Order: sequence, then structure tokens, then C-alpha cells
Amino acid sequence: MIGFGASLSGPQCSRAGCREAATWTVNWRNPRIHDADRVKAWLACDEHRDYLYDFVDARGFPVAITPFGVVLDRLPDAEGAE
Ligand SMILES: [Zn+2]
Repeated sequence: MIGFGASLSGPQCSRAGCREAATWTVNWRNPRIHDADRVKAWLACDEHRDYLYDFVDARGFPVAITPFGVVLDRLPDAEGAE
């Protein structure tokens, strides 16, 4: 289970059990509890970047991938959720 409270505290992949160095940031937001300018950030290695993206995307949350260290200020609502 992935902790939704994971923070940008270290350069390690956020995937449970993975100790690879993070090279990507997965920015996401739960529109039900987060305002548009509240962005959560998971770190991801090359292998788990798409896994983490899909994990969020499958829930219909806005999500965007940026290079490691780059955290978005805000995330637009997912398509069709306007
Ligand atoms: Zn990983």
C-alpha cells in the first residue's frame, strides 16, 4: 500500500519496497480534499514512474510527471472534471 502522505523528504523512490534513486516527481492532487494549489509529490525511479502515475490516474485525480526536484505549484483539474 502506498502512503498518500509521502513527502519530498529524500531522493528515494516512493514505491513501497523500492530503494532506487528517484529521478522523477509524480505531482498529484485529490480534488475532493485538496485545493488546486495543493500539490502532493511522490518521487519515482525510472521503473516505477509509470506505475505511480497510473495509480493516481486510475482514481481520476489530476496527475503530472516532472523531473526529480521539480514540483508543480498547482495542478489543473483532470480532463472532463471541470
Ligand atoms: Zn522505484
